[in-house]
Amino acid sequence: MLYRGTYSEIDLNVFEDNLKHLQEYTNKPVFCVCKANAYSHSDYYIAKTAYENGCPYICVSSYDEAYSLRNQGFEGDILILGYVDPDSIEEVIRLNITISIFSYEWLEHIKTNNVDMTKLRIHLKIDTGMNRIGFKRLDEIKKAFQYLKDLKVNIEGIYTHYHSADNEDKALCEKQSNWFYQIVDLIPHKFKWIHTSNSDATLSYHDERSNAVRVGLALYGIKSVESPLQVKPVLSLYSTITHIKKVMKGETIGYGATYTCLNDSFIATIPIGYGDGFLRKNQGRFVCIDTHPYEIVGRVCMDQTMIRVDKLYPVGTPVEIIGEHIPLVKVAHELEMIPYEVLCLLSDRITKVIK
Ligand code: PLP
Repeated sequence: MLYRGTYSEIDLNVFEDNLKHLQEYTNKPVFCVCKANAYSHSDYYIAKTAYENGCPYICVSSYDEAYSLRNQGFEGDILILGYVDPDSIEEVIRLNITISIFSYEWLEHIKTNNVDMTKLRIHLKIDTGMNRIGFKRLDEIKKAFQYLKDLKVNIEGIYTHYHSADNEDKALCEKQSNWFYQIVDLIPHKFKWIHTSNSDATLSYHDERSNAVRVGLALYGIKSVESPLQVKPVLSLYSTITHIKKVMKGETIGYGATYTCLNDSFIATIPIGYGDGFLRKNQGRFVCIDTHPYEIVGRVCMDQTMIRVDKLYPVGTPVEIIGEHIPLVKVAHELEMIPYEVLCLLSDRITKVIK
């Protein structure tokens, strides 16, 4: 029930179309990145749709996210891109979750007694310049590789992550790529999966030697580099007028009285606020009713926001916050943020309507 009147709409048909277009565009298997509740798009539904439409892997950031997907009934293959507590190795194997290995020291902490390590599937994460997580030194990679081989672990994949794929100049990608494939060539192993490219790299940099891509944002319909790929945004965000009143010239709106009405005005209240991830920085931006833009006036509160409208709309009128008339990219630009941040900030308090 949408009793609160604020909800995001997740269009799985649009997601499916985006995925099909991306698969045709890249001609490689697509690992669907579902970190942070699929960038607030509902990890279970996105993962299920992706898996049913040919994505061999769903990528998440942590064991918690992988566990949550399993708990919701997702049975497809999951790759954890981030850190996993070495003590959870048994659980990881039991839940058939693939993990990323990126340090030898980590391997020394796993307790392998009573664990059938042959059932563990891993991808080696190589740091080629991001300096976040990943093996850097060749001697460490070789040592870890041998250790894993001795344990008969399934060394299924190897990957790296480009740090500047949105640059027009691809020299940095090129440098990372050269580094990565030098390492791949030095490891005596036939990897099932070799993957390097996120959305921007998939759309703007040709990495011939990888055999899969690892994409999030583009699947959710947002492109941050020029590309002929056709995708549409999957998520829209709406609220609803819960109260409307006439406010006289000279009266102020909200905490701190930061907005004064220059004329007699209609002020409508909508039930969304910073408790939903709708930041106070939104003051002065616009939302939309039908096709009319209306200004957010006064400070955004924790649960409610006021907008100045030009007529007495009925309570229950829908208000678009992100959608057809107010694209996410525009919202992010106006907030001096990136689309990822705007999406990830949307809190779980917002009901998700899956279409
Ligand atoms: N691969 C890794 C290691 C990531 O951290 C991310 C996202 O942050 C992605 C792939 C997907 O990136 P994008 O959403 O830009 O496609």
